[in-house]
Amino acid sequence: MRINCVGGGPAGLYFAVLVKLADPAHEVVVVERNPAGVTYGWGVVFWDDLLDDLFRHDPVSASRIWEAAAKWDEYEVRATGKATTHLAGYGFSLGRKILLDILAQRAAELGVEIHYRDELTDLSDLPEADLVVACDGARSRLREQFTEHFGADIETGRNKYIWLGTPHVFKTFTFGFEQTPAGWVWFHAYPFTADRSTFIVECSPETWAGLEFDRLDAAAGTAKLEQIFATHLNGQQLIDHRAEVGGTGWLNFRRLTNQRWDHGNLVLMGDAAHTTHFAIGSGTKLAMQDAMALADAVSSGDALAVALERYESTRKAALAPLQRAAKASSEWFERVPDYTDLPAKQFSYALSDRRGEYPMWRYLLHVATQSTVPRTLLRWTLSARRWSRARRRPLASPIAPAGHSAPAVVTSR
Ligand SMILES: Cc1cc2nc3c(=O)[nH]c(=O)nc-3n(C[C@H](O)[C@H](O)[C@H](O)COP(=O)(O)OP(=O)(O)OC[C@H]3O[C@@H](n4cnc5c(N)ncnc54)[C@H](O)[C@@H]3O)c2cc1C
Repeated sequence: MRINCVGGGPAGLYFAVLVKLADPAHEVVVVERNPAGVTYGWGVVFWDDLLDDLFRHDPVSASRIWEAAAKWDEYEVRATGKATTHLAGYGFSLGRKILLDILAQRAAELGVEIHYRDELTDLSDLPEADLVVACDGARSRLREQFTEHFGADIETGRNKYIWLGTPHVFKTFTFGFEQTPAGWVWFHAYPFTADRSTFIVECSPETWAGLEFDRLDAAAGTAKLEQIFATHLNGQQLIDHRAEVGGTGWLNFRRLTNQRWDHGNLVLMGDAAHTTHFAIGSGTKLAMQDAMALADAVSSGDALAVALERYESTRKAALAPLQRAAKASSEWFERVPDYTDLPAKQFSYALSDRRGEYPMWRYLLHVATQSTVPRTLLRWTLSARRWSRARRRPLASPIAPAGHSAPAVVTSR
């Protein structure tokens, strides 16, 4: 099969890896507009359920991802005028650039051709292929060529957010809420390497305008945020990638759904097909799980139309609960001022139960584990469960499976 993937993000590269693993005879080309090693964004968080899936599908890239990831085993919640509290839970985070480097290298080892600095403007510019995968992100140009057919629907979130990085290394996933004269502004931060953390800032549009972010350029805007969050950043700077290209990175989240995901031999995958709010940190996970489902479907031996239909229905069913959770979660952050008068423990519990799904015992556990001894015991228990789950995963074979082509050349078209 000849397969063209438009977009070398996590979805496109991981799909290329899996489909090549399924059948080394496939000719797979990934077209990416950015130069090799260049991307937007900072670190992304993942959960252990994704790791299990990654190890099942390709233990080699999964081991590299696991080794490169920063691991953390609880959340910290800070808010002006309240004691710091803690939430149970663990996850891991990885620089987006590191993830893409791992996947691109793995794809190249398996014989995938990657064409960097190659921006596709029209479907007809692509060479003939049996399957074209539109994995060109939330603003997919390929999808926009057939907007009516796909039936895209976009809901724009109310809050403003900006995706920043910082050299301050947070010791764990941290939410920090600061009260300013213009209202509450908060961050979601987590470490992703030994010298970098992701730092996403969010606030209501009223607070955003009140703090004059609508008028400040990138340098003045980040300087203001550094001042607001100085105690959390330990005097370190915030970095806005957009400043380098003369803009500022403030955005409103766009929640995208599509009625249909395929059109002839063209199929949507990852953010081109759907987006979920970053408050539940699942967009990359869902994009990679799309890649797994699409690779499984096209490798099943069924006719392409049947395979694409199965891929779409499987993924829509799997996505539905997460999309509901992401919506509930983003709406909670739109109502932050409704909760900020709560005492510290109730406030952080409301934050953790923002999807409104927890049974009563979770609240009792939350209160109990604010003291050091029960909190340490809970962390040990969760860590033990995590490492026992890790031990059950398949080990990566150091040798490429037989039949795979020699390492491919990473080229420019
Ligand atoms: C603030 C923020 C925080 C986030 N945090 C997390 C998190 O913690 N965890 C998580 O799982 N997810 C997170 N996400 C979501 C995650 O970034 C996306 O869901 C994920 O990147 C989707 O992968 P993708 O491959 O579908 O698309 P993308 O990563 O957007 O990749 C698309 C690729 O296509 C390329 N491209 C686009 N157009 C063309 C063209 N015409 N020709 C050639 N190439 C093209 C782009 O350059 C890009 O490389 C976050 C998102 C935001 C906004």
